[in-house]
Amino acid sequence: MYNMTDDIGEILLTEEEISETVSGIAAEIDRDYADCERKLLLLAVLKGSVVFMGDLMKKIRRPVEIDFMRVSSYSGTETRGKVDILLDLHRDDLQKTDIIIVEDIVDSGKTLAYLTNYLKFKGANSVRCAAMLDKPSRRKVKFEADYIGKTIPDAFVVGYGLDYDEKYRNLPFIGILKPEIYTT
Ligand code: 5GP
Repeated sequence: MYNMTDDIGEILLTEEEISETVSGIAAEIDRDYADCERKLLLLAVLKGSVVFMGDLMKKIRRPVEIDFMRVSSYSGTETRGKVDILLDLHRDDLQKTDIIIVEDIVDSGKTLAYLTNYLKFKGANSVRCAAMLDKPSRRKVKFEADYIGKTIPDAFVVGYGLDYDEKYRNLPFIGILKPEIYTT
């Protein structure tokens, strides 16, 4: 049987390391929002962050609401640079809501910089970002997530929700995809 793991050059985060990392982020969020009486909305960016979102929401102790947006900025392994909203957020209580955008990875920073401004413009009381992975060496715009799981080098990674052409999302770990998979 074809084994997706054979396409991985190096594992960056094992299942256990991911679990510990997500627990750490959940604890930070619980601490930071301990005195917050407003609604806290975890807003996942589809599709890459669904696995992270599922784990993170279970580990946060305070009440949260969840919602989803879908944007498109990538094709294959390269960013197009322009962010299109494919699924928008429709709520009439944004003034009374604190949002944490839940994202799989920060690369150029364009997606999260755009979404943060967009949600503030729509009237959210506050907007922060939690990203499982960060590739700071690839940044094209000034942006820093408030909660970061792991900083990684400039490599194309898959697993734990992250795909290459819709594949590898169901790998339980995060690894670097062998370049020959996307260069041949
Ligand atoms: P940014 O706007 O920061 O350049 O891009 C963010 C999006 O690009 C992420 O949500 C993710 O979908 C995609 N992306 C960036 N780097 C990688 C990567 O190494 N692997 C995968 N699978 N997607 C990536």
